[in-house]
Parts: sequence; C-alpha cells; structure tokens
Amino acid sequence: MSKILIIGAGGVGHVVAHKCAALPDVFSEILLASRTKSKCDAIASSIKTRLDETIATAQVDADKVPELVSLIRDFQPAMVINVVLPYQDLTIMDACLETGVHYLDTANYEPRDVAKFEYRWQWAYQDRFTQAGLMALLGCGFDPGVTGVFTAYAQKHIFDEMHYLDIVDCNAGDHGQAFATNFNPEINIREITQRGRYWEDGEWQETEPLSVHKPIEYPDIGARESYLLYHEELESLVKNFPSLKRARFWMTFGENYIKHLEVLQNVGMTRIDPVRYQGVDIVPLQFLKAVLPEPASLGENYEGQTSIGCQIKGVKDGRDRTFYIYNNCDHAETYREVGAQAVSYTTGVPAMIGAKQMLSGNWMRPGVFNVEELDPDPFMADLNAYGLPWKAQVDVPLPHEYAEEK
Ligand code: NDP
Repeated sequence: MSKILIIGAGGVGHVVAHKCAALPDVFSEILLASRTKSKCDAIASSIKTRLDETIATAQVDADKVPELVSLIRDFQPAMVINVVLPYQDLTIMDACLETGVHYLDTANYEPRDVAKFEYRWQWAYQDRFTQAGLMALLGCGFDPGVTGVFTAYAQKHIFDEMHYLDIVDCNAGDHGQAFATNFNPEINIREITQRGRYWEDGEWQETEPLSVHKPIEYPDIGARESYLLYHEELESLVKNFPSLKRARFWMTFGENYIKHLEVLQNVGMTRIDPVRYQGVDIVPLQFLKAVLPEPASLGENYEGQTSIGCQIKGVKDGRDRTFYIYNNCDHAETYREVGAQAVSYTTGVPAMIGAKQMLSGNWMRPGVFNVEELDPDPFMADLNAYGLPWKAQVDVPLPHEYAEEK
C-alpha cells in the first residue's frame, strides 16, 4: 500500500487517476496535482461519482523544482507519475531525486525551443538515480510503453533473434470534430511535422515528413493509410535489441487530418518560434493549442477503435518466424468506463500498471530504465486484467518488404 502523486490533469491524468483510485490496495492515497487545480477537482469529483473513492488535489507549476519539492515533502508519496508534458520531465526528475521518491513518465524530455525528443537527457540521470537507490521508469504509456513490453515479450517467448520490427498504430475513431488531436496538440503536432526516421542496418535513415506511406490492414478495422514517423521508442528499442536490422513506426492519419495539417503548416500556425503580435511574443503553435479542442473533451461522441501493435520478423530454432501482437481499444467503451477517449485510456492504463509493477516490487530496482528492460510477463498479465487485453498471432503474413526477399 503506497501513497502516489500524479502530476498532470489532462486526458491522460484523468485516466491514470481513475485507474489508480480503483486499486486502493495498491495505491492507498492519491494526490492529483496540476497547473489548473479546478481540472484536478473535476477529476476527483468524477472518481467520487464512479468509484466512491476520494482523492486529494493540489495546484503546482511543474516547471519549478522548489514548488514540486515542497509538494512532495508535504504529501510524502512513494513515487510520482508524471503525465504533464515532456517539457517538465527533468524538473520532476530533479524534484524526485531531491526528495527521495521514485519516478515514472509516458513521454521523453523535449526542450521547448527545438522540436526534438530523445532519451539522452534522461539517460544522463542514470548514476544519480542508481546512487540514490531510486527508480525512474521512462515511457510507460502505450507507444512508448506497451509497444516496448510487447517487443520484450516477443524476444523472451517467441524468437531467438528479432530482425525486423514495425510498430503499427491506428486510430480508426471518429470524434466528429473537423480537426483535433488525441493528445496534447502542441506535442502531437511537433511530433508529426518532424522529418521521418527509421533504423536500418546500424544507422538512422531520414525521410521527408509524412512522405512514406502505405495502406496497412488492422484487425477488425480494415486497411488504413499509415505514415512512417519517427517515434521515441525506436531509440531505446534498437539499443536494447541490437539484433534488429530494421525498426520503423507507422501511424494512420485520415485525409481530412492531413489536409488541415498542411494548411496550418503553410500559413505558419505550426511554428514554434515566437512571433511579435500586438506588443507581445506569442508562439503560433501554442496559440493554436489554445483554440483547438482539449484531448480530454473529445470522449463524449467518439466512436470506433484504436489498434496498436508490433509486427516482428525473426528466427526461432533456425527457421523464419513472424509475430503480430496488438491491442484494440474502443473509444465508446473507455468513455463508458472512465469518461475518457481511447488514446488517453491506452496511455493512462499502462502508466498505472507500470507504477503497480514498481510498487509491488516486480520491477523495482535502482536506476533509469525503459520498459523493455524489465520482465514483460507481469505487465502483460495486468494488461489483460485492467482493460487492455492483447491478442497475438504467430507465422502470419505481414505487409512489409524484407531485405532477404528483395
Ligand atoms: P493534456 O494537454 O490533455 O494535459 C496536460 C496536462 O499537463 C494539463 O492538465 C496541463 O495543465 C498540465 N500542465 C502543463 N504544463 C504544466 C506545468 N508547467 N505545471 C503543471 N501542470 C502542467 O495532455 P495529455 O493528457 O493528452 O498528455 C499528457 C502526456 O502524455 C504528454 O506528455 C503526452 O506526450 C503523453 N502521451 C503519451 C502517450 C504514450 O502512449 N506514451 C500517448 C499520449 C500522450 P493545464 O490544463 O493548466 O494546461
């Protein structure tokens, strides 16, 4: 039984708080803190109504280490779940070190002024967390997160050696809005307007943004146009599974989404450098975020499913083998359960499960870790138990080209 501090009261924070509150034997007391306390209070009231559980709330600016330190000292949690934005990863890690509590997040650090995410900054905390006897678990959402656990499971149970990894992420849902992003718009748009990148034969290959795409078939959904993107888990997966000759990430976008994004880019609304407007500096992408729907508000009329999984080719006992492991998640069902859409749900549930593995001792060890470095089995069992059941197929045809077939 442990006290837990959740920071961030957006779409993902809503789900983590509900899922943790549903397990009082593991998470005995919960404090939900964020920049806008009224959002924490609204989540606390939903938890009271749905689960008849009480959680505490607080205001905090997670950019400020002293504020975080005093909040942590007052509440004395065993760990912090960080579901704020990637900009705050380092301040929250610093506060955890200063107060001696464990740490978990769902997205790697990204500086505000460059649209660039990589693990370098957080991996640099390895010695400090190890020496303090504390654990930091990085990227424990769905992707990154479950995709790393799926890959670790494939290595442990299915393959002697994995050679090709394609992570395939489909959102076939319809929220009825002309244009909206499913998680924080600023972070989402920074991610997908970057140059594409994938790993092949020991080096990174770059592509123009969204220039490589093809239809991929998703279970119970059908074929959807899928675009090659750089995604953060590729960096840790190729490091932790060096037998991979190629690792790529694909994500679906509808024509309408691409059309809006192109217009926004063409008119300069996705810029992240400040622009002088009526005597003040504004960042166009931050202004755009302010006028777009909040991810947490999309749930009510959302229909359809997400399907995210790993398609892997490799060898077992000297023979070629393919493996496809995935989860499908239904927007309307997650809305009924916790009042959130499936993208928030598929991120928030794994964050709760990761914290549970740490607090139960299954995963707890000093240092900074990516999820694929830990035993996948207890986490995989909890995915089935807590709302994200997975399915797997061995030796099925996969829709990718492979070097040995060319
Ligand atoms: P939202 O924009 O809905 O929520 C972000 C929350 O953080 C808001 O409550 C916001 O407060 C709060 N916040 C922002 N800045 C600060 C600050 N300085 N101090 C305190 N609170 C702050 O985003 P999501 O919930 O959709 O996403 C949360 C995180 O989850 C992101 O880092 C995102 O990248 C990650 N994510 C990971 C995924 C995965 O699969 N691994 C998938 C989807 C998301 P306010 O309301 O006042 O603005």
